[in-house]
Amino acid sequence: MNSCDGSRKDVWSGEVVVAANEPIAESTWKVALDAPDFAALANPGQFLMLRLPECVDPILGRPFAVFDADPSTGRVEAVYAVVGKATSRLARLPVGAKLELWGPLGNGWRAAKRATPPKRLVLVAGGVGSAPFHMLVKELMARPERDRPDATYVFGARSENRLNCVDDFRRLGVDVRIATEDGSVGAKGLVLDVLPELFSETTDPRDVQIFACGPTPMLRAVAKWSAERKYECWTSLESPMACGMGLCFSCVVDWKNDDGTWDYKRTCVDGPVFDAARLKWD
Ligand SMILES: Cc1cc2nc3c(=O)[nH]c(=O)nc-3n(C[C@H](O)[C@H](O)[C@H](O)COP(=O)(O)OP(=O)(O)OC[C@H]3O[C@@H](n4cnc5c(N)ncnc54)[C@H](O)[C@@H]3O)c2cc1C
Repeated sequence: MNSCDGSRKDVWSGEVVVAANEPIAESTWKVALDAPDFAALANPGQFLMLRLPECVDPILGRPFAVFDADPSTGRVEAVYAVVGKATSRLARLPVGAKLELWGPLGNGWRAAKRATPPKRLVLVAGGVGSAPFHMLVKELMARPERDRPDATYVFGARSENRLNCVDDFRRLGVDVRIATEDGSVGAKGLVLDVLPELFSETTDPRDVQIFACGPTPMLRAVAKWSAERKYECWTSLESPMACGMGLCFSCVVDWKNDDGTWDYKRTCVDGPVFDAARLKWD
């Protein structure tokens, strides 16, 4: 099935089959779906909506970042933390079960595209905030070296048992740094404790882009840290949302206009990737 009147060629919706669904860390699962039409459309940083068929509680779909979408195999993957009703039910789905899927949705990291690519790109993830970076890193590492920014992936978690997908990123060949709050792996502390070692006093802010996804306190801290150094920072938000298509306005965030006045933007259609300097973090 595609969009009802065929007018949206960039969004697909239909029923898909679960090809794999396994725990990968504490309370964290990865689901793989056979969805070739969707896989052909997805861009790094976009998200998908999943709904449990014939389910009235919850009746709404839930948004998840596209972790991977491979047009050659038709496989689409998402990584999810089990936090409530939908994700608990999702974690109980066996291989062969059906799900309703629609997307890809949102702007993705292309919102941050510059005329001249940055020399230094730092990707900061916390928890399942790793998910929207996987396709981006895959795409970056497939470029010839001369066209690739110097990229580092920084992942933060509470403890070793919460680490997810780190090996996927290592396999792609990107420089990976880890911080855990209890020091069980990598640096002891928060992602913010790792960031200073990635830059020097001679770093030109114009050469830098920082992308971040994870819990709001982490995004707030990374946005503030970046602003203090005049580093451009883009954040991928996970504001709770109902429709994912711009209709319900349940996911609005405060957004600063050029003249300094405030407006609303919908995370689903205007985001989820936003220039952090335009968002209200207090
Ligand atoms: C664009 C986007 C991308 C996302 N990508 C991912 C992803 O890749 N992996 C992933 O695990 N999650 C992701 N999320 C969050 C995910 O959608 C929610 O965790 C999910 O909807 C929870 O559904 P549930 O029915 O299990 O929980 P519910 O029963 O609806 O809620 C359980 C608890 O979690 C809280 N909660 C629900 N949604 C959110 C949220 N978005 N932010 C903070 N707290 C919330 C509720 O307030 C409640 O306390 C994303 C959200 C957005 C908007």
